[in-house]
Amino acid sequence: MVEKPKHPENYPESHLYRIRHSAAHVMAQAVLEYFPEAKIAIGPPIEDGFYYDFDLPRPITQEDLEKIEARMKEIIAGKHDFVRREVTPEEAREIFKDQPYKLELIDDILSRGTDEYGNPLPEGQKPVLSVYQHDTFIDLCRGPHVKNTSEINPKAVKLMSIAGAYWRGDETKPMLTRIYGTAWESPKELRQYLKWLEEAKKRDHRVLGKELGLFYFAPDEIGPGIPLFTPKGEILRHLLESYVREVQTRYGFLHVWTGNIVKEDLYAKSGHLQNYAEVMFPPMVDEKSGERFRLKPMNCPSHMTLYKKMGKHSYRELPLRFSEFATVYRYEKKGELHGLTRVRSLTQDDCHIFCTEDQIQSEFSMLLELIQEILGRFRLTDYQVRLSLRGEGGKYVNDPEKWDKAEAALRNALDASGLDYIEAKGEAAFYGPKADFIARDTLGREWQLSTIQVDFIQPARLGLTYIGADGAEHTPVVLHRAIMGSTERFLGVLIEHYAGAFPVWLAPVQAVIIPITDRHLLYCEQVAQKLRAAGLRVEVDSRAERMNAKIRDAQKQKVPYMLIVGDREVEGGKVALRLRSGENLGAMSVDEFLAKAQADIEAGV
Ligand SMILES: [Zn+2]
Ligand SMILES: [Zn+2]
Repeated sequence: MVEKPKHPENYPESHLYRIRHSAAHVMAQAVLEYFPEAKIAIGPPIEDGFYYDFDLPRPITQEDLEKIEARMKEIIAGKHDFVRREVTPEEAREIFKDQPYKLELIDDILSRGTDEYGNPLPEGQKPVLSVYQHDTFIDLCRGPHVKNTSEINPKAVKLMSIAGAYWRGDETKPMLTRIYGTAWESPKELRQYLKWLEEAKKRDHRVLGKELGLFYFAPDEIGPGIPLFTPKGEILRHLLESYVREVQTRYGFLHVWTGNIVKEDLYAKSGHLQNYAEVMFPPMVDEKSGERFRLKPMNCPSHMTLYKKMGKHSYRELPLRFSEFATVYRYEKKGELHGLTRVRSLTQDDCHIFCTEDQIQSEFSMLLELIQEILGRFRLTDYQVRLSLRGEGGKYVNDPEKWDKAEAALRNALDASGLDYIEAKGEAAFYGPKADFIARDTLGREWQLSTIQVDFIQPARLGLTYIGADGAEHTPVVLHRAIMGSTERFLGVLIEHYAGAFPVWLAPVQAVIIPITDRHLLYCEQVAQKLRAAGLRVEVDSRAERMNAKIRDAQKQKVPYMLIVGDREVEGGKVALRLRSGENLGAMSVDEFLAKAQADIEAGV
């Protein structure tokens, strides 16, 4: 397997991060020389490289990119120092007087205390107006940078692609040209990265989804970000969900269902309307009664309402675990939609556990086990847990005793589990600590999948209670939890993880039976019937194509088993088994094949 060059542990503090950030500035200089009338927006380092957004006088071509890259190499060879300077608001406005995007960012830094990209600053950091200059280029920037352009290896820098990007991700704002580049410490790492990228492209779930006929998008007819699943795609959804459901039942979860539309008032009470409005679809207003409704953006308030409606609860009933495969709707920005991994309608495997403070640790331990079992079934076994704890500052719910207890409970459970975890101070939500599972796929890419979130706030806001052993009313703690996150996103990750070659238990079509000629067709149908009766998903390829073409197509569709049938197989009551890897296992009885398929399903291969 091609591996990506190793990602530095603490990337924002690494030398590689400085190299990329500096390369972004060098690129902006080259672009400004090439298009003196260009306006510059923002240019941060990103996971595998960097980008810069420009407002350009004309569309940019591959040829332009090559020229810009060549000029970047010259600038790098000029051995220019990067010099930092703090400036007053007046100086900053003077320096960037011809750069409207920078002027807007300067205003943001001054009025909203953002960083130089217009984003909120990490906790504890103070806004600052500083510029970095190298050669002729000066940028509004907090750094960090390399000391001198000579620290950038010109042979390890490459401009990759061009994309459109709305200013501030807002589709009502101008569309800018984003140029992506990559930079590494050595040319060898760059080569390795490019090879890895080629493999990743082959696995792109948007491409494979079409090739394998799993799902489509119809932005003009249905709307953007709403996937339509074909019969094959729906089989996958169904298998994922029914597997997770079956395991959850074994772990004591109760499945509920709470609809798609909710009165807006409930979200005002829960606090979502105040904090979450921009990702909610606009309200639907009942003209007769004036009532306002929303498409459900999350399930927590619905599950909590159900808890209340089910009557008075005693501590003896806790923990109570509600689970639902719930389709929710998020108004994601059009520019941020991405295949199945970022959609507007998604089905969460959502769960809320109502428990006492003393039960947090045992519930958390149980969830760790559950998540490991499920991710393991999908052959996602390389993961790390990120434990987000509270930091300094006033945003956290002010109940230090509760926090200490919950954080200790999570930590103890993680220690006992033997899982690899890191602690991230200051990354908890204001309402409680959480744990995220960051899984690495076969290409070493990291995906945040399962989440467990402790919540001290919502249950109190919505008036949830239970009667404790002391006979008094208490507020339960709620643990929010998702394992797959959403069926859609998880499926997108799995398609790329498996490169479309699903393990037998998930393959939409598990076996294709291929007659060598038409006179074998009847026997093929009989075999198919027998296999279907045993629960396998089987097709007979009765098209008037040559056998080799049928094998090639089945292989392209990544069907695990091809059963070839000719005279000898019909006479002997057999099938000749060929695997999608191209391996031939020869003739075997139908029962022998069934036993093999069932063993593979069991083993999850
Ligand atoms: Zn910068
Ligand atoms: Zn929730």
